[in-house]
Formats: sequence, C-alpha cells, structure tokens
Amino acid sequence: LIYPPMPERSLVVLIGPAGAGKSTLAATWPASQVLSLDALRETVSNDAGDQAATADAVAALHLLLEARMRRRLFTVVDATNVSRSAREPLVAAALRHGMLPIAVLVTTPGSVCIERQGPRPANRTVPEATVLQQRQDMIDSHRTLKAEGFAEVVFSDDLGQLLPFLERLST
Ligand code: ATP
Ligand code: MG
Repeated sequence: LIYPPMPERSLVVLIGPAGAGKSTLAATWPASQVLSLDALRETVSNDAGDQAATADAVAALHLLLEARMRRRLFTVVDATNVSRSAREPLVAAALRHGMLPIAVLVTTPGSVCIERQGPRPANRTVPEATVLQQRQDMIDSHRTLKAEGFAEVVFSDDLGQLLPFLERLST
C-alpha cells in the first residue's frame, strides 16, 4: 500500500484550481512518483509560469506517464486537470496498462485559492477570474468522472473514503 492510502497499481489524477494545494498534497508522495506539469514547463522553458510552454510540457508529461504506466508504477499527476480534454489521455494511459485511474479533487474554497496567489512570484500568479473558472470546472466535472473511466473519485480532505475500495481490491 502507498501512503496516503492508494492502490499500488494506480494513477492518481489531482484535480483542482491554482492555489488549491495540489503540489502540497503531491509532496506527500516520493518526488519520483509525481509528474508535475509546472516542473515540466520549467524543464522545457526555464520558466514554470510560461504558458506558451504548456503544449511542450503536456507532450513531455504524456511521454513520461506512458513510460511509467508501462512499468505499472504508482504515479501522481500534479496539474489542474479541470477539463475533460486534459484528463482523457491520462485515463487512457492508465487503462491501456491495467492501472486504476483515481481522481482526487482538491476542493479548497475559492477565496483561499485566490488569497494564495498573492505571495507567489509574478510569473506564477493566476488571475482571480481564472482561478474561479477552474474551480467551477472542477465542480462541474465531478459527476462525469466515473463515466470518463475513473475507478474511484475522492476528495483530498478525506482520502479515508478510499479504504472500502482498497479492501474490495485486496479480497
Ligand atoms: P498550482 O496549480 O498553482 O500549482 P497548487 O494547487 O499546486 O497550485 P500549492 O502550491 O500546493 O497549490 O498550494 C498553494 C499555497 O497554499 C502554498 O503556499 C501552500 O503552502 C499552501 N497550502 C497548500 N495546502 C495547504 C494546507 N492544507 N494548509 C495550509 N496551507 C496550504
Ligand atoms: Mg502546484
């Protein structure tokens, strides 16, 4: 078992707006198990906030994810993932290799996400309207995640919700 409790053969897809606390949660797993879109943006462009580098960073993310799923390695994707189009290739990569995609929604209040933009470096602050739109997109996503192929859908503040699922897996 992975801690926080997750099935070994799973792909955790974090979903949440900027400032929700995705990277903070992701840091509870070993760094080698986390694919961070911001980190890859920095890798390809020297600037984690360079939105023009997003397409290259996403391509790199998909390549690395495929390599890890092929090896059946537990992986966390740290990106906003609030749109279905962002999630689809992640779910597909997991299912292609018999890994369980698990959605973890980081449902921090919008006001808190916005407050957290303040102290960030200028290249990493996301405008208030964008943060609120991302949060609304996350909420709208909730009811379709199972249909998209996620094996489980849980909230980050209650990962204990996964325990019955884990018990079913091990029996
Ligand atoms: P982005 O999408 O912009 O990368 P994010 O979802 O990764 O945002 P984080 O960088 O993890 O967000 O968190 C934003 C800020 O909130 C950080 O300064 C972090 O220290 C703080 N924070 C995150 N989670 C918590 C928490 N549970 N309690 C208190 N502060 C937190
Ligand atoms: Mg982050």
